[in-house]
Amino acid sequence: MPRVAVFDVRCPLPCDKALLVPETILVDISLSLQETATDASLLTLVCPACKGAFQFDFPERLKKVQGTTALPLDREVDHVWFSIEGQCDPSNSCPPQLLFAIRAFGTTSTQLEKEFPIWSERGLSCIKEHPIVKLSLR
Ligand SMILES: [Zn+2]
Ligand SMILES: [Zn+2]
Repeated sequence: MPRVAVFDVRCPLPCDKALLVPETILVDISLSLQETATDASLLTLVCPACKGAFQFDFPERLKKVQGTTALPLDREVDHVWFSIEGQCDPSNSCPPQLLFAIRAFGTTSTQLEKEFPIWSERGLSCIKEHPIVKLSLR
């Protein structure tokens, strides 16, 4: 049976929430980022527990490998992920900031959108440190 590596994707904020994420998902997220960003090495993820944003270094992921899991993925390790565009005030003409949310298998986009006000409360900014004023699912 084919196997795939799983990684410890851990929130560095005080909550320390850890997710076990299969490489297939991290690769898909990185490819999605490559469509729009010149540098697709740092994935900006939003923590499922504290809803704070943190960065995951994709090229350095091997340091976080926890083992392997069988394909097709078991629901225990499978996750859905969402790509979200964050925009600061349009008058700044900044490119959108791409954020990714890795959530439990079966999480819907409607459930994710309900998190957006909490994300904003936690404070998100664009690459030029302007506050993000609009979040939308891609
Ligand atoms: Zn967290
Ligand atoms: Zn900006």
